[in-house]
This record gives sequence, structure tokens and C-alpha cells, in this order.
Amino acid sequence: MSKKVLVIGEAREGSLRNVTFEAIAAGNIVSDGGEVVGVLCGAGDLNSMAQEMVYYGASRVITVSNEELKTYTSDGYGQAIYQVIQDESPEGIIMGHTAIGKDVTPKLASRLESGLVSDATEVVVENGNIVFTRPIYSGKAFEKKEVTDGLVFATIRPNNIPALTRDDSLAGEVTEKEVEVTNIRTIIKDVIKKSSEGVDLSEAKVIVAGGRGVKSSEGFEPLQELADTLNGTVGASRGACDAGYCDYSLQIGQTGKVVTPDLYIACGISGAIQHLAGMSNSKVIVAINKDPEANIFNVADYGIVGDLFDVVPKLIEEVKQMKV
Ligand code: FAD
Repeated sequence: MSKKVLVIGEAREGSLRNVTFEAIAAGNIVSDGGEVVGVLCGAGDLNSMAQEMVYYGASRVITVSNEELKTYTSDGYGQAIYQVIQDESPEGIIMGHTAIGKDVTPKLASRLESGLVSDATEVVVENGNIVFTRPIYSGKAFEKKEVTDGLVFATIRPNNIPALTRDDSLAGEVTEKEVEVTNIRTIIKDVIKKSSEGVDLSEAKVIVAGGRGVKSSEGFEPLQELADTLNGTVGASRGACDAGYCDYSLQIGQTGKVVTPDLYIACGISGAIQHLAGMSNSKVIVAINKDPEANIFNVADYGIVGDLFDVVPKLIEEVKQMKV
């Protein structure tokens, strides 16, 4: 049965995050031929980003512009999105499983007395019901969740559900909604960016990750060069973060970021279960480790037994040659 689905978009520094487009694609599956309504909260002029959501498959977009929504707060975004939901009475709501999505969707679900399928990696329609696939036990297994009635409310993991092809001939109405945002209990005094360079880890297509085997912060330099050569970004194990070689914002794993790039190159990482929880669903995994017994080789598609300081420069040279 076709449904009206709200897709909550997310922007950072004036650009939509890719997961917004992936959420629109998921919204199109859930709507099953119904209406996909984009929602974009922020401050200032949101029109060009709203238009982009239309080009990626939203039937129409509602923008909510308010100075109180300039920076994300649970109270502000929660109230704004809730008011749009009240107006639109959707049968489905989809958002990215990002820091913001993880924070705001459970609160909304509770207020709406609805269930929530979080961190979905796939969505299909089977016999008229919506079926989500999501990882469990830190990614060691997957479960299927079938939503048979009620609101279909889900967050989707970035980099898993492919976005639709951008088509700038698509037309869709963009309307602005005024909302009342009050009693924001969080005061944002300053926003300090930890990793200002490179692609966001959770949306990166290529990640070169370093572990304790990298041995120092300078040891990360060849990894950064390899990542730059591959248009990727650098990540790390907790071992490397704990040792002070890099910032915790780069940590991948159970207590760090969950990533699913097309290519994950693990350098000097042993492959502890807590690290695998954050990266084992990467499409292609390459492991470089001097210990042939390292656990990382159990999940790797390609394994290189060797010293990363010999192997990584050779890889950089090879990739540069391929580009010439
Ligand atoms: P190590 O285990 O010390 O491995 C270093 C590897 O580098 C070794 O395999 C070694 O052979 C190799 N090596 C050394 N020198 C070289 C060289 N020159 N060339 C090639 N290879 C070399 N960990 C995470 O990563 N993410 C998490 O989110 C996370 N959450 C955790 C949560 C909890 C509750 C707990 C208890 C632990 C968590 N951990 C997490 C820690 C995890 O258990 C491991 O301790 C950590 O992942 C180890 O990091 P590592 O592989 O870099 O270091």
C-alpha cells in the first residue's frame, strides 16, 4: 500500500550530507509509489538544498528556517520536526543513522508512541510489508524487521542504501514552514571542529586506518598520503587513539564510528572484535600487518603480511602510476 513518507534531511556547513540522498531512496522504497516529503531544518535560506532533495527523488520539500535551529539541539530539532509530523501525518519517517539521527529519532518515536527500526542497512517491500535488515551483535549477524502496521519509522546506516541518480529535470514544490521553538535547554557556545580536513568518516568511500602498529603520530603521515591519493580519509583503531597518535574523532569500532566504505585499508591493526564491529561490513577490506596470525586477516579480502612502512609507500607509488 502506498504511503506518505517524511525524509528528514541533514546539512553540514551549507551542504547536504550524502545520507540525506540515501534516506530519500529508502523513503521511495517505503512509500511504495506514494509521496516522499523532504524536511530540512536550519537557519537562513535553505531553498537550494531543498531543491537538491527534489533532484534526488523527494516529491516535495518542507523547509523549517529558524535562528534557533542554526546549530543542532535535541530540543530545537525535536520540536521543529514534531510540528511538521503533526501537520503532515506521515505513515513513514526516515532519517540517517548519524549522530543527529541517533539523538533525535528515539525522542520523536517516544513522543509519537511509535516503534523505531534503527541503523537499517537495507529496506525492501515484501508482500506489502516493509522489511528492514539491520546488524545485531556488533555486526556479527543481521536481523530482519518487518513492519506490519503503524508508523514505519527508521534510521538508515550511511553508505548502504544507494541514492537515486540526480535528475535536475525533476520538479517538486518547496514550501517554508514556520515553527515555534521554545525552551531550548542546551546552550551551544562554540562549535569546535576536531577533524577539519577530508571526508566525513561515516560517509567516506575509501578509508586508510592506522592502529598501534603505526607507532607515532608521524607514522600516520604515509597513511594520510595514501588516503589523499585514493581520495579517501584516515581512520584509526582505539589502540592508536589511546596511544595518542591521533584524535579520538578518528576512532572506528564499537565505541567509535561505524563505517562501510567501498575500500578499507587496515594498517597495523590487530583486528580486535571491538574494532571489527565498526568496519567488518566494508565492501573490500585490505589488511597490512607484519603478524601473519593477526585476526584482521580473518575478515580481509586481501592480506599483505609485511611492515606497513615498506608496504604503504609502495602502494602510494602504484596508485600514482595508475593515475598517470
Ligand atoms: P594492537 O592490538 O596492539 O595491534 C597492533 C598491530 O599492529 C599488531 O597486530 C601488530 O602485529 C601490528 N604491527 C605492529 N607494527 C607493525 C608494522 N610496522 N607493520 C605492520 N603491522 C604492524 N578498539 C577499536 O579499535 N575501536 C573501538 O571502538 C573499541 N572499543 C572498545 C570498547 C571496549 C569496551 C573495549 C574493552 C575495547 C575496545 N577497543 C576498541 C579496543 C580493542 O579491544 C583493541 O585493544 C584495539 O582495537 C587494539 O588496537 P590495535 O589493533 O591498533 O592495536
